[in-house]
Formats: sequence, C-alpha cells, structure tokens
Amino acid sequence: MIVIMQQEATEEQIGAVVERLTKNGFQAHLSRGVERTIIGVIGDRTRLFDMALEAMPGVEKVVPVLQPYKLASRAFHPENSLVPVGDLVIGGEEVHVMAGPCAVESEEQLLETAVQVRAAGATVLRGGAFKPRTSPYSFQGLEEEGLKILARARELTGLKIVTEVMDTRSLPLVAEYADILQIGARNMQNFTLLREVARINKPVLLKRGMSATIEEWLLAAEYIMSGGNHQVILCERGIRTFETYTRNTLDLSAVPVVKYLSHLPVVVDPSHGLGKWRFVPAMARAAIAAGADGLLVEVHPNPAEALCDGPQSLTPENFRQMMEELARVAEVMGRRLGGGAGPCSCR
Ligand code: PEP
Ligand code: MN
Repeated sequence: MIVIMQQEATEEQIGAVVERLTKNGFQAHLSRGVERTIIGVIGDRTRLFDMALEAMPGVEKVVPVLQPYKLASRAFHPENSLVPVGDLVIGGEEVHVMAGPCAVESEEQLLETAVQVRAAGATVLRGGAFKPRTSPYSFQGLEEEGLKILARARELTGLKIVTEVMDTRSLPLVAEYADILQIGARNMQNFTLLREVARINKPVLLKRGMSATIEEWLLAAEYIMSGGNHQVILCERGIRTFETYTRNTLDLSAVPVVKYLSHLPVVVDPSHGLGKWRFVPAMARAAIAAGADGLLVEVHPNPAEALCDGPQSLTPENFRQMMEELARVAEVMGRRLGGGAGPCSCR
C-alpha cells in the first residue's frame, strides 16, 4: 500500500500520517521525490482502510501495491535508488564496471589484475575468496587469506571490493573486508543468509538465481530490504534455458523489465551469462544500451591458467579494449563510465 501525499503537503502533515501509521502497528517508509512524498506502508491491508487515511490533511490518495514485493517496487519509490559505495554511487549517471578474476588465486595474480583493470577504468575489484563450486574437488577459494589479498589490492589501487559471502557462518569475516557483499546465484533464495545480510550496513549485490523468475528475484531483494538494508544492487547473470552453446542465457530483457518494476540499480554480468570470453564485450555493450547501471566482468592475467572460469575471462588487454567501446556506448546513452581511466598512483 502507498500513501501519496499532495504536492503542497507540509512536513507536519507527512509526520502526522507516519505517526498514525506507526501507532497502529504499520511500518512507514518515506520516499521524498522532487514532485511529492510517497509513504510506503507495510502491514495488514484490511486494517489500513479502517484508518480513513484519505481523510487526513495533505493526503492525496491511498493506493494498493499489487506486486508481492513492496519496498523493492517502483510504486513505493518512484525515483531510481542510489546506492553509495564509499565515494562511488551505483544507480546514478555513472556506469560502474566491477572487474577482476573469478577467484583470488594469489597476491601476484590479484594485484596485477587490480592495477590493470583500474588503469582501464574499473572502479570496483571483484574476486571470490569463498567459491561456490559445482564439484567439491574444484578449487574452493583462499578464504581469509583471499580476503586479506583483496584488502591489499584496495589499498594499492583505491578500488572498492566486491566479494561473495556464501553462508551466515563466514558473513562477519567477509563483511570486515568487503565494500559490497555479493550473494551468488546459488544462494539467491538462501533466506537465512538474506536475513543476515539485511542486518549489515553494507551494499549487497544480489545475483539472480539461475532458475529464478524476476518476481522471485525481487522477492529475494525484499527479504534484504524488509530486514532493514535498502542498499541492494541487482545483478543479472544469465538463466538456464535449453540452449547449451553458451553457459547460460543472458536475459538482457530483465534489465528494462526490472527497471520498470523496481527502483533498484541493475548490474549485468556477461561473463557468467555467456561463459565464453569472446562474446562478453558485445553483451556488455548491449547491457549498457539496455539501461544497466553497471557491469561485473571477469578478467584474469592468464585465463588459460585460471583456477576458476578461465574460458569466460578477458585478458587485461581485451578488457581495456572493451572499456574504450563501453565509454562510447555510455556516452550515447547520456551516461559516462565511473572512474577516469589512467595509471594508478599505486600508493
Ligand atoms: C561469480 O561471480 O564468480 C559467481 C560464482 O557467480 P554466480 O553466482 O552468478 O554463478
Ligand atoms: Mn566466476
């Protein structure tokens, strides 16, 4: 349910509506737009009509939100949400590119990648320290040592860090190091984990489950938001279809659909979406054209030797070329890439 206030509603009138709602056991979420204020209401809908809110001064109308997700819906928050990550803003005019290896393998591998992606214009460094691998015999990640290496790369380059948290047990540790907590596709419906990240005051990159509908994905975001953390960034990373040539089918149609249904920023991961490096740049360009707020791209200094996801990883040189193209596409879309390209000062 949303309460739409009149354009000329005063602060006192807004406050009075919020007070009446909270006194009656509802949660009220304010969204202040340029034009008017909207109050999102969570609680028993039948009781809301008894309260005759429409009779209160300053109220224009009370409208039901038909979608099962509320806080994530655009009705609740008509303007795009901005998610700050330190001095970066995800969801604004700048398109942010998050790049790095699938997994942190060694200090040398990560620092080399970090310096290169930073020079090409990335603003966030990706790298898994805890890896969700299909086989228990595959490389599982360097765990805490991997997180320490990520922190050293951040210190060296100034890049922000996005890294996956796989379970509630390791959450406190991962949260100590990460600037953005990544929830992987396999964990999108790990509701216990979603509730725990909701209690942490850090942005969350929520990947779409490989068989998740858009509604299920937005409901997963709702878990995090209803638990108190509104800093959610959605990430489309491909879904399973009958097609086998590519690893997944990158659902770029999800970008405009989610932007229509929700106010949350959307990032696209063409690396996992296709599973083949050759096609990554084309889909990265298409993602920006479709309205994505950012990209998540795997880059490895030597993809042939990568311990994880080598076939879909770009070399630093391929990444640099792609970034030049992306800058042009962003400009056509009236946006620009975050992070001025240039050599890193490497403090
Ligand atoms: C990853 O980003 O390395 C990863 C494991 O992605 P996903 O959860 O989308 O498979
Ligand atoms: Mn990967």
